[in-house]
Amino acid sequence: MRDPTIFAETAAEAWAPVSGWRAKARGAARAARIRLEALRQGPATTPFVRCLYAHAVFSDTVPTFRAFLRAAKQEGEFVDTATLRTIIADGKPSDGRFFHLSFDDGFASVYEDGGPVMEDERVPYTMFVATDLIDADPDTLNRYFAHMPAYRARVRTLDWPQAKAAAEGIGEIGCHTRTHARLSKISGDGARLADEIAGARAIIEGHVGQTCDSFAWPYGTASDIDDTGRAAIAAAGFTSNFSAVRGAVRPGATDVMNIPRHQLEFHWPLHELMVWARGFREA
Ligand SMILES: [Zn+2]
Repeated sequence: MRDPTIFAETAAEAWAPVSGWRAKARGAARAARIRLEALRQGPATTPFVRCLYAHAVFSDTVPTFRAFLRAAKQEGEFVDTATLRTIIADGKPSDGRFFHLSFDDGFASVYEDGGPVMEDERVPYTMFVATDLIDADPDTLNRYFAHMPAYRARVRTLDWPQAKAAAEGIGEIGCHTRTHARLSKISGDGARLADEIAGARAIIEGHVGQTCDSFAWPYGTASDIDDTGRAAIAAAGFTSNFSAVRGAVRPGATDVMNIPRHQLEFHWPLHELMVWARGFREA
């Protein structure tokens, strides 16, 4: 059992290193493909709408984070969720270049280390929080991290005053269930589903004092949600729902209840962040 009083405060402490020769070989091949793509791509000059998401902005990644935001702003405008929803629903403007930035789960570093940068750079952001992780006790955090092999140490999560302060600034608090539940696994249990979705929304609104109308489902692939889960999200009053499937947003065509996002993490090199921001491997 990891020491419940120890938290990773840097990306170097938080993320598990790649181990094993197979994984290392795969990683090297992937890095080479991304290098090639970075050389092939030019700056974006044609219209796009692209949602990006990460989990953290640790103190040791702040310089890369700031450099990335500045580079991305040369190519597109960062918009908040309400604006994104309007662009998707109305299909207008169809000739703009837009980014939407979000962070999943609710780590404190996003607000503490990333928040001031995003305020400075005027980049709106959404934090999709699993409400049980906010002001979490050690047992709850241990249960969550037990299912997250990407981390080698626990990461500190937000407290509610931080979430409220973010929402009073340039941030928005979205919903990512209560317990980081895999919705497709619990869709047979109506009471549990309602607690994870409508229940989490009520908790957020109670603490943050603002309407919470955007959702991102945990794990984010098509198999992590089903029609029952989607219906419960709509019934709870959410007006947008984000996946973790890479893809382009198409104004007037993308389903606002199934919005694709590109994952990136800010301990990755800047050229790799830009490769994803320019739509590598979009469906
Ligand atoms: Zn998550």
